[in-house]
Amino acid sequence: MATELALTEVAADVFELRLPIPFEDGLVNVFLFPDGDEADLVDCGMNTDESVDAIHAAVRHVGAKRIRRLVVTHIHPDHYGAAGVFAGPGLADLYLHRLEVPLVYPRYVELEHLVSEVHTYLLVNGVPEDEAQVMSNSQRALSEIVKPAVPAVQLEGAETLEVGRRRLRVEWTPGHSPGHICLYDESDKLLLAGDHMLPELSPNIGLHPQSTPDPLHEYLDGLKRLAGYEPRLILPAHGRPFTEASKRVSALLAHHKRRLEQIAAIASHGERSAWAVALELWGLRDNPYEKRAALQEGLAHLQALAVEGRVKKFVTPTSVRWRG
Ligand SMILES: [Zn+2]
Ligand SMILES: [Zn+2]
Repeated sequence: MATELALTEVAADVFELRLPIPFEDGLVNVFLFPDGDEADLVDCGMNTDESVDAIHAAVRHVGAKRIRRLVVTHIHPDHYGAAGVFAGPGLADLYLHRLEVPLVYPRYVELEHLVSEVHTYLLVNGVPEDEAQVMSNSQRALSEIVKPAVPAVQLEGAETLEVGRRRLRVEWTPGHSPGHICLYDESDKLLLAGDHMLPELSPNIGLHPQSTPDPLHEYLDGLKRLAGYEPRLILPAHGRPFTEASKRVSALLAHHKRRLEQIAAIASHGERSAWAVALELWGLRDNPYEKRAALQEGLAHLQALAVEGRVKKFVTPTSVRWRG
């Protein structure tokens, strides 16, 4: 591999490897935990040659010969994409939260049902037919950078796992994805935050056919719980390691509170689809992923407002509409 390896020891026996991705801020961080001849890996990047070669090189660099365990925070392509390269029979054991498991097959293997389900979801939420076509088809491109693997262990949350020479507690933090997990080393107050708590980006929290029914409230509850642990160092999947979780959590809570108020105000002007709300708030994005993310994010906030009784949600077989 020609490019230099972006490998840093970010805590004792914890190596961060930065891998290229074509979205978010352009990089995903995965973490290697060496233990003698073996190493454990938290997240594995996309299934591309560049990314996979970098992981092999990093394993050698930390003095290991093979990957023993692969723990995946959630099944988005930048975290789970190369799972099938590194885990499976004769390879590493994959650890994944059990609420992520049912998302894999419809999203990356047999997509036709999900593409049509997403298409319907887009139409009932007010997306015009031509836009809905492009937006639902964009799912197909993602499946190309993902090689699935069957988990050897399905997690529920609260397990203690041996990862490298450390013991990490599984923290189930739904919201960004139904079975998203963080990993916490209590003795060292070290938090591997996945996409749950990022230093600069606000992770996408979306309501969609595969999400839990009220992802925003779940996400905010998870943030408050982790801030309560007062971690010394947070290792995020995007961006640089950071400290002061409570400060970051306060900023994220304020961000979502502001967004809830903005959306409540828009809904108070009369009954609307979520698509109309998203357009009013963010304008029309060019990229189909961003359009979908905006709709899903708008919907997650509308749903939270409906759960709180602040907006009314009206559903028929052909439309979902909201009014403040
Ligand atoms: Zn993600
Ligand atoms: Zn991510």
